Amino acid sequence: MRPTWAEIDINSLKSNFLQVKRIVGKDVGVISVVKADAYGHGSINVSKALIESGTNLLGVATVEEALELRYSGIDSPILLLGGIQPDEVEIVIKNNLIPSLFSLASAHAINTYAEKIGKKVRYHLKVDTGMNRLGVGLSEICDFLEDLLNFRNLELEGVFTHFANADVDSREPTLKQISVFNMILSLINRAGLNPKYIHSANSAAIQRFPESHMNLVRPGIMLYGAGRMGVCGEPLGRSTLSTSSGLTAQDIPSRTNFELKPVMKLKTKITQLKRITAGTPVSYGGTFIASRPSIIATLPIGYADGYMRRLSNRAKVSIRGFTAPVVGTVCMDMTMVDVTEVPGAIVGDEVVLFGDEMVSADDVARWADTIPYEIFSITGKRVPRVYI
Ligand SMILES: *Cc1c(COP(=O)(O)O)cnc(C)c1O
Repeated sequence: MRPTWAEIDINSLKSNFLQVKRIVGKDVGVISVVKADAYGHGSINVSKALIESGTNLLGVATVEEALELRYSGIDSPILLLGGIQPDEVEIVIKNNLIPSLFSLASAHAINTYAEKIGKKVRYHLKVDTGMNRLGVGLSEICDFLEDLLNFRNLELEGVFTHFANADVDSREPTLKQISVFNMILSLINRAGLNPKYIHSANSAAIQRFPESHMNLVRPGIMLYGAGRMGVCGEPLGRSTLSTSSGLTAQDIPSRTNFELKPVMKLKTKITQLKRITAGTPVSYGGTFIASRPSIIATLPIGYADGYMRRLSNRAKVSIRGFTAPVVGTVCMDMTMVDVTEVPGAIVGDEVVLFGDEMVSADDVARWADTIPYEIFSITGKRVPRVYI
């Protein structure tokens, strides 16, 4: 087998789950977000571990993702975060999946089918408080509730919203979303509905906005050990808080320090070493030219594995406790790194592309001008996941 793989550390995953529980406290439940194949970590194994850890629900984006879990024998509650299509109603109900509802058409379709088979179907109402993506807004909520109350076979189990700016400097947009959410929640209560779950917090809000925890939180990225906010509540990697952030002393949540452990380690091994003289170009287009005699290592991983071409001449990898820079253009199946300053590097040495103390997924994301979510979820199908 090609020596390129992603090691998934289940103990680190469980440890991150416990950190979430520590932050939110024992009275707040967790819906673990395992969409997009658990951010590339493998949703079946990840979900089983999180169920063992005590997650209340699992959250996925699509019906297909939910069915993959059901067919592997997972019978925990699964919330479909992204809504459903009319032709998915039957399979959603038969597999006991929990739909998110934000349109009367879907509510009607589900209610009709539920009535036909004599079942009550629980759902979560998705409300839009400022993300402007999915959900019922403040201006429509009353009319919407009026109609919803007519659907006798639907049972409101939860109400939720999603933040657009929980991880940016300014706290204002999120505080505003929380206040709109609270307004909508009181309208829902006034309509005589008392859903079991109220939820809004993604990973950033879990860390920065205790007032958003309600009674259920929806961590994704932090379960996978990335997206950690700084100790002052600022996005990590940005060392200064600007005065325009609107942050006041009371806003800074007091919290115990916590540690997130990387779950995925993307690994490969050196397949060839070559000595080149100063002035020698490396890889397509000669975008790197050695400025000194150098030792170049070839790695059997490339952009078809999710190691983005964007990382050419930007990223670093970890070898023998040192970092080595990517030199030249990342190819489809291969990448070159400069190991001149890695003492004793030999063919067969293990290389970590991200996930150890030297190089994190957050680092790789920064080098590629993206976020760790993308780095994880594009890690290729061609890369086998090895669970430890
Ligand atoms: C993906 C997603 C989450 C998880 O977000 P993170 O930033 O990864 O914690 C939570 N809620 C919804 C609706 C999502 O789509």
